[in-house]
Amino acid sequence: MSTQKPLVLVTGGAGYIGSNTTLQLLDAGYDVVVVDNLSRGHRAAVDPERLREVDLLDTDGLYRVLTERPVAAVIHFAAFIAVGESMKTPEIYFRNNLAGTLSLLTAMVRAGVKNIVFSSTAAVYGMPDVSPIPESAAKRPVNAYGETKLMVETMLDWFDRIHHLRGICLRYFNASGADPLCRAGESHEPETHLIPLMFEAIRSGKPMTLFGEDYPTPDGTCIRDYIHVSDLARAHIVAVESLLAGGPSNRYNVGTGTGYSVMEVVAAVEHVTGSPVPYSFGPRRDGDPPSLVADSSRLQGELGWKPVDSDLPRIVDTAWRWFNRDR
Ligand code: UDP
Repeated sequence: MSTQKPLVLVTGGAGYIGSNTTLQLLDAGYDVVVVDNLSRGHRAAVDPERLREVDLLDTDGLYRVLTERPVAAVIHFAAFIAVGESMKTPEIYFRNNLAGTLSLLTAMVRAGVKNIVFSSTAAVYGMPDVSPIPESAAKRPVNAYGETKLMVETMLDWFDRIHHLRGICLRYFNASGADPLCRAGESHEPETHLIPLMFEAIRSGKPMTLFGEDYPTPDGTCIRDYIHVSDLARAHIVAVESLLAGGPSNRYNVGTGTGYSVMEVVAAVEHVTGSPVPYSFGPRRDGDPPSLVADSSRLQGELGWKPVDSDLPRIVDTAWRWFNRDR
């Protein structure tokens, strides 16, 4: 019989990475309560008994959830994540991602909850001049989304120094794929991510736009490090375990170390689905660096994590099965 592990509070547990991580926490024997305002998440992604519909800016509401039962750690996913949108309406990004996190940290300090795992991003690096990118690389975000995440990382440093609230920041590269058992996956509204947009283009027959064909890369399209959401979820579990064992605050890249161009993703999607992806080339998207590939050796060396589900065909195959789940 497995013993019940501590209670973890997951913000944004109705979203893509949050719902996958919640499933893995439950599979691993943790108890979980989810905070989500459902502004972009999906009610159906969360067990109703675990869901507390609270907005991040509602500090008192967060405090109530944090003190309902003893919370050992918070995993903080809830955030806006669309790079393009952040360059059009930065105000909602700073309000939700930065002020919302400040509200959460304020509630945690009041409730005496001292451990947090934070969803950060490769976008903190901006246009890196090294590849693969180590955690020590210069942080110069080129979009407002990345700036909000970097500002939270900085805020967390101060909360550690002053309140001894320890935080592990996981800098995600390109989260992709779906739960292999098809219990959770990616469904953003509107969708902005490459792989699900390719599936939508296949289904509708309407060409999607590939952003830029003149990047300084071998085939002219952007290179990204696609990490399977199950590997990403496991990174959160090892991070929580490190904090619960008394480990220090830290920052870790979460990626595979291998980059694929947009055209290589097109080829993988066509191979897995057996259908051509209808597309045309458009201009570059504002705020898109040419290449983002992770050096995740720190996470591998210090916390013993390694990617096991992230080869591109498996990513596309699990995502495709999720996309077709109701058919
Ligand atoms: N991309 C594209 N067309 C789209 C959406 C994305 O060409 O409709 C490209 C984008 O420019 C980037 C890559 O696909 O090079 C991954 O973008 P996505 O939005 O999935 O993730 P991000 O890198 O922004 O986290």
